[in-house]
Amino acid sequence: MVPVLIEATGMKVRVRFAPSPTGFLHIGGARTALFNWLYARHTGGTFILRIEDTDAARNTQEAVDVILDGLRWLGLHWDEGPLTGEATGPCKGERGPYFQSQRRENYQRRVEALLARDLAYEHDGAIRFRMTREPIMIPDLVVGNVTRELTDREKLEPDFILIRSDGQPVFHFVNVVDDLDMGITHVIRGEDHLSNTAKHVALFRAFGVEPPKYAHIPLILNIDGTKMSKRDKGASLTTYVEEGYAPEAVVNYLCLLGWSPKQNREKLPIREVIELFDLPQILRHNARFDINKLHWLNGEYVREMDRDRYYELAVHALARIGIDTNKFPLDYIKAALDTCKEKIKLFSEVKIFADFYFKDAVDFETDPATEFPPEVRSRLARLREAFAASPAFDAATLEKTLKAVVVELGIKSGLLVHPVRMAATGRPVGPGLYQLLEVLGRDRVLARLDRVLKI
Ligand code: GLU
Repeated sequence: MVPVLIEATGMKVRVRFAPSPTGFLHIGGARTALFNWLYARHTGGTFILRIEDTDAARNTQEAVDVILDGLRWLGLHWDEGPLTGEATGPCKGERGPYFQSQRRENYQRRVEALLARDLAYEHDGAIRFRMTREPIMIPDLVVGNVTRELTDREKLEPDFILIRSDGQPVFHFVNVVDDLDMGITHVIRGEDHLSNTAKHVALFRAFGVEPPKYAHIPLILNIDGTKMSKRDKGASLTTYVEEGYAPEAVVNYLCLLGWSPKQNREKLPIREVIELFDLPQILRHNARFDINKLHWLNGEYVREMDRDRYYELAVHALARIGIDTNKFPLDYIKAALDTCKEKIKLFSEVKIFADFYFKDAVDFETDPATEFPPEVRSRLARLREAFAASPAFDAATLEKTLKAVVVELGIKSGLLVHPVRMAATGRPVGPGLYQLLEVLGRDRVLARLDRVLKI
């Protein structure tokens, strides 16, 4: 059990991930969510999800679902909020998240409080905040102390808008009001928000409270050091879901993007990260997203993965390409998937390494007539005879049987190994030949050979 860390003020840690529903969960956003979640789990605190959806135009259920599904996929469960989860199913009893669109009254109440104390005023139908002209010091747990003065543009109009003339509250205002009302103790977010923080600090003080502690996390850059934009491949979490990454590998990789355990280890179980994670260790320089490293790490995860988890993810990946494994006996599914465990790095590769196990007939990528010309078919016919007569159908016996035919025909083994693989799987590469033939079993193998012999 992780001990509950009570801050010197006696307050339990409360953190939040506060995405705007843009229709897409950026990999940087996923990392921000993860760091908040890790800090909450490390301290025994509370992790809140708050959807910043005051911009009604962009606010669709679909855009919200992208965020919720992304966090669920990563296993970053939020702790609090109205009870909205369905009574049954995978999200049973799930609480929250909070939606800013449902919290309008709070914003109204808070703006009235500022107006009453002349800390805000109306101008041209909008409500503006009387911003201090003094520099503001932001103590930041990652970046250090940062002092912000008004920018030249802000000097012309320091009093920023809280509520627009159309009644829409602006980001700075709702963000602070919610952090205040939700008792947020630590604001952990992307460094792109550092430039907003002086406004936020001033607002907290106007409400008579000290701001939360800040931890601005350096951005994630592309491998070449350029800024990662929405259009960059790999910027969206959905890419990793679709390409068959294991969530635990993605989480592990995201942990290492901007945070580093002392021992310089790469593969770290999440339980260990929870124990080790702390805000001051977040690295101050920008992190570079290295897809090759994630790809490598994913392969390590697949290789070392517990078998049941591996079957679960592989079956899921097969379902994504329309293969229903339910029709097959469990032992067969497991044996089939066992032949690829050491081979695949991404679960999307089950298409190449395992789909043929679950199809009635093999799909040939090349023209079977060219693939199996008469001389190849005559060799396969001899092999078929030997396989039919073989006393057993295990990998070792099959290998011996094939090698005997090779000797008998006086050919190189490749001239038989390649065509039999093609006939059985439709592909030139895949799991070990004798293992896959054993799993397919005599009936399927003979039927597949018969099919090409009839060409
Ligand atoms: N809605 C803001 C965003 O998506 C959140 C900023 C914050 O975490 O305070 O960038």
